[in-house]
Amino acid sequence: MSSEQMHDAVIVGAGFGGMGAAIQLRRLGYDDLVVLEREDDLGGTWHVNRYPGLAVDIPSATYSYSFEPNPHWSRLFAPGAELKRYAEHVADKYDLRRHMRFSVVVTGARWDEDGSCWVVSLEGGDEVRGRYLLTATGFLSQPRMPDIAGIEDFAGEVVHTTRWRDDVDLEGKRIGVIGTGATAVQLIPELARAAGHLTVFQRTAIYVSPKLDGPVPGAVRAAFARVPLTQRIARLVGSSILEVMMVAGVLHFRDLPWANRIGAQVCRRHLDRQVKDPELKAKLTPDYDFGCKRPTFSNTYFPTFTKPHVDLETTSIDHVDATGVVLADGRRADIDVLVLATGFNLWDANFPAIQVVGREGRDLGKWWRDNRFCAYEGITVPKFPNFLSLNSPYSYSGLSYFTTIETQMAHMDRLFRAMRKADADVFEVSERANQEFLDRMTELLGNSVFNAGSCATARSYYFNQHGEATLLRPTSTISAHREAVRFPIGDYRFHSTRERVPA
Ligand code: NAP
Repeated sequence: MSSEQMHDAVIVGAGFGGMGAAIQLRRLGYDDLVVLEREDDLGGTWHVNRYPGLAVDIPSATYSYSFEPNPHWSRLFAPGAELKRYAEHVADKYDLRRHMRFSVVVTGARWDEDGSCWVVSLEGGDEVRGRYLLTATGFLSQPRMPDIAGIEDFAGEVVHTTRWRDDVDLEGKRIGVIGTGATAVQLIPELARAAGHLTVFQRTAIYVSPKLDGPVPGAVRAAFARVPLTQRIARLVGSSILEVMMVAGVLHFRDLPWANRIGAQVCRRHLDRQVKDPELKAKLTPDYDFGCKRPTFSNTYFPTFTKPHVDLETTSIDHVDATGVVLADGRRADIDVLVLATGFNLWDANFPAIQVVGREGRDLGKWWRDNRFCAYEGITVPKFPNFLSLNSPYSYSGLSYFTTIETQMAHMDRLFRAMRKADADVFEVSERANQEFLDRMTELLGNSVFNAGSCATARSYYFNQHGEATLLRPTSTISAHREAVRFPIGDYRFHSTRERVPA
């Protein structure tokens, strides 16, 4: 086992969250950073996900850093490869690559009280030390393998969407897809193009709204490049639409039920226009309230099921055998390729994604599970000094992940400046502040569709294993940002590890 000198900060994850944190730390004057990434390159979800049809489903002018607009997006909703190139551009422009180490798997981190630092353990036994620890391991980063008997017996190819393999031949094949989440909605129309026969196994229907997508004309891109204000206006429009959808339609469900009904109606009318067969339409209609689980956008998803070589199967799966999928009623679908669009495990394998042990041996994952999931302002936790948990309960604010990232960057800015003003280098949020934040979030959730709506049949990953919707912050993004720049400094305790030299 080897241990190297202490860094200013260790960041786990080289996706957009980790890169935003690194940019913020550099702005604050910390240059000795190490960014550890388990994958072989940067970009997080946009490096890992390469399935056909991958695209962002938030308008691209909004799904990007506000301080680094990209005037070159080819479409309103950019394809995944452009997001990966944008991540590379940001890493180069902000000189982040020199901090990054790839194919490094972090197994855990513990607070060293004597050294006032974090000791981060790596697979293979090495250790890295940092005064500050930031985990940016993503919300949707631990793939969920379905607990369906017999998958290991399947003789054909089995591919999870996060481990897409271009060498798997799909042309003319009998393909089965398990799952109908946002990933499947993008992938299914592409698979239908290649497949000889496609069977989609749906457990829970998803709300799909029309996608107002299209190429961004060259003249508009030129205007974005020449007059950045034009793109800022486009961003504001996109962000405002998302904000209204989220705040009015989801978070204020009890006060504004009509706003939620409008969201549901938009999706139902879209389905009505695209599918005429009543039986198929009924199968594709969700039986829970809009917003209980993440809705998505597509113009090609519903029409795919009207094609003669595509079947939508809603009978539950009993097991998989060597040649196909056997349903609970005894029917079977013989297939050559089984695609698992089964999403991610947030509440067992994430939160946190690695073992993090703070002061007095507090294990973050155990503490969250034994008590309630919470992080103060979605970023810090009592008894975890100098630790910023960027993918925390109540941290996800709004619909574009970049809102969350930039809110957290603002929080970091205020926190580190206050700490240094106090001539300190150690911060810790108080139990009181954390509890008060949790109480406030719990009360606000009472107004949301998650508590006041009908979500029991949604099987939404917004809900944790205790049945609480602790993923999304139940406030507007404006309020989240305002709190990030104004939170009471007294919510933190500061102290210094440096010996003071008498004057
Ligand atoms: P997901 O929304 O969790 O969907 C997983 C699907 O697999 C669900 O339909 C689920 O059914 C099904 N499933 C899981 N286990 C199953 C089992 N044992 N048997 C049958 N069905 C099973 O995951 P996702 O589609 O990967 O999307 C995750 C999130 O990624 C999205 O909500 C979105 O936030 C993000 N995303 C974003 C983009 C983008 O463009 N920005 C694109 C794709 C994804 P149940 O619903 O019944 O559990």
